[in-house]
Order: sequence, then structure tokens, then C-alpha cells
Amino acid sequence: MSEIDLFPVPAQWAREARVDAAGYEEMYHRSVAEPDVFWLEQAQQLEWITPPTQAGDWSFDADDFHIRWFADGSLNASVNCIDRHLAERADQVAIIWEPDVPTEEPRRITYAELHREVCRFANVLKAQGVAKGDRVTVYLPMIPEAAFALLACARIGAIHSVVFGGFSPDALAGRIEDCGSKLVITADEGRRGGKTIPLKANVDAAAASAPTLERVLVVRATGGDVPLGERDTWYHEAAADVSDDCAPEPMAAEDPLFILYTSGSTGKPKGVLHSTGGYLLWAAYTHGLVFDYRAPNVYWCAADIGWVTGHTYIVYGPLANGATTLMYEGLPTWPDASRIWQVVDRHQVHTLFTAPTALRALMKEGDAPVGATSRASLRLLGTVGEPINPEAWRWYHDVVGEGRSPIIDTWWQTETGGALIAPLPGATDLKPGSATKPLPGVQPQLVDETGKVLNGATSGNLCITASWPGQMRTVWGDHDRFFQTYFTTYPGKYFTGDGCRRDEDGYYWITGRVDDVINVSGHRMGTAEVESALVLNHQVAEAAVVGMPHDVKGQGIYAYVTLKAGVEPSDALAAELKAWVRKEIGPIATPDALQFAPGLPKTRSGKIMRRILRKIAEGDTTSLGDTSTLADPAVVDDLVANRVSG
Ligand code: ATP
Ligand code: MG
Repeated sequence: MSEIDLFPVPAQWAREARVDAAGYEEMYHRSVAEPDVFWLEQAQQLEWITPPTQAGDWSFDADDFHIRWFADGSLNASVNCIDRHLAERADQVAIIWEPDVPTEEPRRITYAELHREVCRFANVLKAQGVAKGDRVTVYLPMIPEAAFALLACARIGAIHSVVFGGFSPDALAGRIEDCGSKLVITADEGRRGGKTIPLKANVDAAAASAPTLERVLVVRATGGDVPLGERDTWYHEAAADVSDDCAPEPMAAEDPLFILYTSGSTGKPKGVLHSTGGYLLWAAYTHGLVFDYRAPNVYWCAADIGWVTGHTYIVYGPLANGATTLMYEGLPTWPDASRIWQVVDRHQVHTLFTAPTALRALMKEGDAPVGATSRASLRLLGTVGEPINPEAWRWYHDVVGEGRSPIIDTWWQTETGGALIAPLPGATDLKPGSATKPLPGVQPQLVDETGKVLNGATSGNLCITASWPGQMRTVWGDHDRFFQTYFTTYPGKYFTGDGCRRDEDGYYWITGRVDDVINVSGHRMGTAEVESALVLNHQVAEAAVVGMPHDVKGQGIYAYVTLKAGVEPSDALAAELKAWVRKEIGPIATPDALQFAPGLPKTRSGKIMRRILRKIAEGDTTSLGDTSTLADPAVVDDLVANRVSG
């Protein structure tokens, strides 16, 4: 690693951050040496009804498999996110809501108002017959009521299952049925990027194949003309005469807080179940540490609530920390590529947390839309969702942040509840493309195919050897699938499914899903590496690389390339890009086939569905599997029609 690739902690962060480099080392050491002491101490950042006296109680072994944290403690998540802040910050804004349409007025909800709204929502749920332990499906757009609904469930001990508002009726029905929810909370319609989404109509369509569904609560969001049937109730009518107060339900730390279905990029979505105490602590702990959050800085996680990032880093983490959290209804690129930066200026955003896919989409439009805004309030920039290619990292750092703000690349999964590997702004020197080092309490390990532990600078399969409080507890309805999926590949360890390189400084570089590793003539290559090389070319906006069968090499490299606006595809350009990769990485990485793709099949969280790309590359286009969670299923047809041969 050359000097030039190291970005030291900015002076202001070094001076002001709560944790500096020595502090991190000390904290990490303590977390591993005395985990019980460390975690009981951390647990004090929550407000407990019964404070726990036990920390972790877990075993990843087959004969004694169990995971429990703070098992004798009890608490309520909504109290932690609202009530306990009232004494000090009743009038502080808890949620800033930025509407889809830029000319409309934002909403600002104080902690006192949040308390009232959540209590009312909770009372409505109770009146609808929802009780502790019941599952409630939430199918809402990005409106404040989405946060109210989650916290209202938490207040009465109901388990929420959020289904992304862009999902189809089929995807919704499958998720209602899988967890057996009797109530769905939805809205008349959603809005996103100037388009209307018929949420209520989708619920009606889903109801036909979701027999457990009994009642639908409808929030009026757009005021569109939406007829209500027998099972439906307008939220505002039900809320008209409920009380402003609702006593919180005491919950055991291990009681479930929510179910969230994974995005399905590797198979049938799993109902990931998170606990009340451990998850909430992980959300608060990581949000506080990784963003060094201080109230009342304005913090914006530009994710959707239908994704785990929205749960942990729009709602639970920031609110548990008494933050002002910004919630945005729309798209970063609508009505134009300046919007995200205009929102930053409008609300004086201090911390912005987004995904590489959004950054690449913005980067594609050039620097001018960024330059048209001030962004002077920004001090911290975060990213999550996939490996960030160094090119996008540098753009984020240099152009967006003007070199002021560290890039906090957080590696984690729906399963992990919150960040596990990430830099701390005041402690960690950065390397573009690396999520850097494990957070205190996280013990990563790299192993080879046979499970042999690999030490030092090396590449391997990323496992976590010790439980952490935010770890998922089960797959809803299928505990055996939970064990089989994560704990049998390398017995005694949690296997993340990700490949990873650790460099000589102990920095971790996620190379993508292990099943995305391509074996070309015996050389193992992460797809992310080839993609990063392609995106480095100034004509390329985005790239996805998969393996394809190859007579000679075993596997060949098939690259899908989206060009920047204004660049025309041609055979000459395909040849040029192949030669480019050859020069950047080496002959072994030269793509065997290169297809220009106007769009890539992505999940709603921006992840490329490689299993579909793999099938197309293999020429097997008849059984593409479940595509219900794709952001835009139409791109698949174009890819199939324009497949190239290697
Ligand atoms: P499914 O499990 O259904 O296939 P998914 O894995 O796409 O869905 P998530 O839990 O949202 O759903 O994604 C977690 C994965 O995203 C990680 O395992 C990793 O591959 C990738 N990822 C997330 N953040 C980062 C990051 N900062 N750097 C590299 N990879 C990341
Ligand atoms: Mg996953």
C-alpha cells in the first residue's frame, strides 16, 4: 500500500472525536479480554426497566446452539427512543421530514410530538386488536408515519415486519404469509421521484393470496381517491379519539423487536429476527461510535425504511441517541442530480450516510450538480451496502466532501443488525475501498475453503468467531435454516458469506460474496476487483462481473458495463475496455465477454442480483428465479436480448 492511499484522520476530528486511535485500541482490547464487563458497561447507555446482570450467553456449536444477550434484563425500545429524552430535549426536533417534491414544506417533529404521535399510533393498534408478540406488516412510503408505526409496535410489544413500499403485491403477500401477520399498515399511495405508487391497491391485490390478513390500517398520505373496503380503516379516523398516552409494554431483552426479510440476492428471502435489548444496544452503540454522533447535529441516512439500514440508522440508532434524524421521501437524483446536495444545504446536514450505488448514479452526472451547492455543513460521510470502488470513494471524499469529511465505509448485513467493520472518524486512517477495522466487540477471522484459520495479510472467507449483541436470533419460523445457513460451513463460527482480504496493517477489504469469486485458470478473483477496474475508466458508469463456463480456463469473466451519459457503445469500445482491465489488473483478469447494459438488475437496496447475471452469462435464461424484489424487472429483458458470447 503506497503512502498516497492513506487518508489520515482530519485534524478537527482528531481533536474533537470521543474516541481517538489509542482509545480505539484500548476499547477493542477490553472488549475481547473482558467481554462481560465491557458489554454490561455498554448496556448502561440504554434505559432498562430491569438492568441486566448477564451479558452474552451463547454457543455456535451444533449440540448447544443458542444466542442470548442481557437475558435477565427488561426494557422498552420506544421508551429508549423517545420518553427518556423528554426531560432534556422535548423541544428538539427528532425527525425532519423532507418531502419528495422540493417546493413542498418539510415537517419537523419534536421529541414531545413524537411521543404523542407514537402513543396515539400504539393506542390505535391496540384498538385494532394487536397484542404483544403479534406480527404487524408495515408497507408504507417514507413518511413520518413509518417511524411512528415502528415505534408504536415496539411500544406495545408487537413485532414489526417492514416490506419495502416498492415491492410487488406478490412479494408483499409472501412476507405477510411467512410471518402470519393479521394486520397491515399501509398508505393510500406513496410518492417517489415524482411517481405515485398504489400502495393500498397493492395490499388489496396481495390480500387474495394472504389468508392470514384480517385488517388493513390506511394512512392518508397523498389524499388520492382510494376506496376502503370491509377490512380497511383510515388511520386518521381511528386516531381521532384515542389517548395521547400509552403505557409501554415491559419487554424481556430477548423478546423479538422485528422481522426483516433479506433482499434475496442469494436466494429465497429469510425472515431475519432481531431481539429487543441486544439489537437496540447495537444500534445505539454503533451509531454513537461510528458517526461520533452529538445532538443536535442533523444526521441523514438516505436509505429506505424497508431496508435494515433504515431500521438501524434512520430510526432506532439515532433516536436512541437523541438525534435529529432526517427522513427523505424521494430519490437522490430527482428532480435532478443536485437534489441530495440541496437537501443537505436546506437542513444543514452534518452527517450523510448513503450507498455506493447512489454515489455512482450521481457521479455519472458529473461534478457540476455538486458544485452548484454549498455543502458547508457536512463533516462526515458514510457508505454501506456493497464494496465501494476506490473511484467512487475518492469522488465522495474530494468532490462532495471537499476533503473535509472522513468516509465511513460500514460493512455489515441484515443479519448483523448494525455495522461490524468500520472506521471511527477520530481514530482510523482511511484507505479508499476498505471498511478498515472491526468495531470493539467484533472478532473477524479469515479461513480457507477447508476452514483452516489464515493469519496475517491474506485473503479468505470472512467469519465472526464470537457473538455480538446485535446478532440476529433466528430465521422466523425456521430455526434450523438459521443454523444451517450460517453455522455449518465452518463449524463453531458465524460465516458471513463474504470474501475478504486483510492487508499488512490489519485492514479488511470485502471482496464481495464468496459465491461471486471467479476461478480463472486456477486463480481466484473477486468480482469487485474487476468491477473497480472497469469503473476507473472515465467512460464507465457502472459494471457487474460474473463467472461463465469456459472450456479452457474453467471459468471465464463476463462483464456487464453501463456507460456514462453521452458515451456510445461500440465493438471498438468493448475491445478498449477489455484491454483496460488487462492493463489495470493483469492478463488473467481480461474479460472474455463484455456486454453493454443500459441498466443492471438491482435489489431495492441497490445490490446487483448476480445470480440473474450469472444465469444470463451462462446462456440459461429460462429459469431466472424470483425477481420480485428487483427495483426494475424490465432491465432483465434487455440483458437477455443483448447477451454476447465469449
Ligand atoms: P441476501 O442475504 O438475501 O442475499 P443481501 O446479502 O443482499 O441479501 P444485505 O444484508 O442488505 O442483503 O447485505 C449484506 C451484504 O452486503 C454483505 O454480506 C456484503 O456482501 C455487502 N456489503 C454491505 N456493506 C458493505 C460494505 N461496506 N463493503 C462491502 N460489502 C458490503
Ligand atoms: Mg446477505
